[in-house]
Amino acid sequence: MDTYDVVVIGAGFAGLTAARDLREAGEDVLVLEARDRIGGSTWYRPDAFDGFGLEMGGTWIVPQQRHVFAEVHRYGIRVADSELPPRMTWSDHGQVLDTLLPVPPEEYEQLEHVMRSLIEAGRRIDPERPLSEQGLSDLDVPIRQWAEQQGLSGNSGELLISWFCGCANASEETGSALDVIRWLAAMDNSLWGMVQASVLGYTFVDGTVSLAEAIAADAGAELRLSSPVREVLADGRGVTVGYDGGSVRAERVLMTTPVGVWRDIRFEPELSAAKQAISRENHAGQGQKIWALARGVPEELSGFGWGTAFDYVGAMATTENGVVLVCFAPEDGRVDGADPHDVQRAVREFAPEAEIVDVATHDWVGDEFSKGTWATFRAGQFAEYEISVGEPEGRVHFAGSHTAGRWRAFIDGAIESGKRAAAEISEAGRLDGRGT
Ligand SMILES: Cc1cc2nc3c(=O)[nH]c(=O)nc-3n(C[C@H](O)[C@H](O)[C@H](O)COP(=O)(O)OP(=O)(O)OC[C@H]3O[C@@H](n4cnc5c(N)ncnc54)[C@H](O)[C@@H]3O)c2cc1C
Repeated sequence: MDTYDVVVIGAGFAGLTAARDLREAGEDVLVLEARDRIGGSTWYRPDAFDGFGLEMGGTWIVPQQRHVFAEVHRYGIRVADSELPPRMTWSDHGQVLDTLLPVPPEEYEQLEHVMRSLIEAGRRIDPERPLSEQGLSDLDVPIRQWAEQQGLSGNSGELLISWFCGCANASEETGSALDVIRWLAAMDNSLWGMVQASVLGYTFVDGTVSLAEAIAADAGAELRLSSPVREVLADGRGVTVGYDGGSVRAERVLMTTPVGVWRDIRFEPELSAAKQAISRENHAGQGQKIWALARGVPEELSGFGWGTAFDYVGAMATTENGVVLVCFAPEDGRVDGADPHDVQRAVREFAPEAEIVDVATHDWVGDEFSKGTWATFRAGQFAEYEISVGEPEGRVHFAGSHTAGRWRAFIDGAIESGKRAAAEISEAGRLDGRGT
């Protein structure tokens, strides 16, 4: 059986970063990846709309995300800033509001109150420390509940809920308000910054894959694609990892798969009760991201909706065949992303004249190697699992954006977690009497 110092499970940004740092620390590393590609929850399809490339998963980054920007600079990756849309569109149950603000003048005070409540909540959060240790359980409630507790009603409340669900890619009944307010704290409590982090930001000119490939090439670790891991069996001397294609042995293993995937893998000894529980519950990021190529829509469309199938529809580019729209829904199955007619129905709630000529999506929720989109916690999960998801269990270590601090559930968080886990494993290796 082949033996390695470390087997890394998963070739997303967490796994690739960890593999590179472990190799730099002198470890012999094998990366086992279930899919036939690297990148994990990011997936750039260069040819999607007649040669116009689409990001099916993770896409935007902001300069405040220092881990990902450090990698972008390290490898000279090309990124481009988004253009500010000249106006916003608001859809109230499919009725497009032809107004600058989404609320009537008598609700302006409410809108101001929303902003004040948000900033007050954001100021209570130190994004550098575990949130579960900061007395924030009153914020760790479902998005709608938090909005109602602030006394928000009317369109101001609905807009906030829609925006939060968009950030969370989760429903108003499951997504934790705390996990979204954390974005504000991570942007130093700038509301404008939070808007940038949610609908603006930088994209990768040559796709997220350009950074994933640069890290993988630098790592130079052995990589086996199409190799789903089925069992992780630890004993006193090491770990045997069984995957479709064989078994390998390592001193230590790094798991970077999403939490919902753990329950399909046989662990010996069993995972802790907390890890088993969150794997069963899964996280709240169970929504949809759907691309559409449309005619008859404004080139600058950027719309938030409530009581609509999509909670956000935004124009990303104009091609000779139409306007490229990115659309998000907070729950799976709201829109059939493979059916242009169904996508058209949902887009028309924002642009009544829309004609959809092409669609593209990936079913991240149904995908056995993701079981969700991005790892927003469900209300109440911070207290239960924030710390335990990243805790090592004997020789098995854990990384992934769900274990990160300031930017958990982002590309940046994945990279942060990979770096943290590599350092943790190198240190453990030193204690084992191995390595430098
Ligand atoms: C639709 C969508 C939109 C997003 N938008 C943004 C955004 O705009 N900005 C942002 O920063 N983030 C965004 N994210 C989140 C971001 O993409 C993720 O947080 C990040 O990429 C996660 O990286 P990771 O390495 O932790 O996990 P993953 O990328 O999920 O990597 C885990 C890897 O493990 C592999 N794996 C799973 N099971 C097994 C197994 N049994 N054996 C072997 N391998 C296995 C998977 O195939 C995968 O490659 C988005 C995500 C999605 C899905």
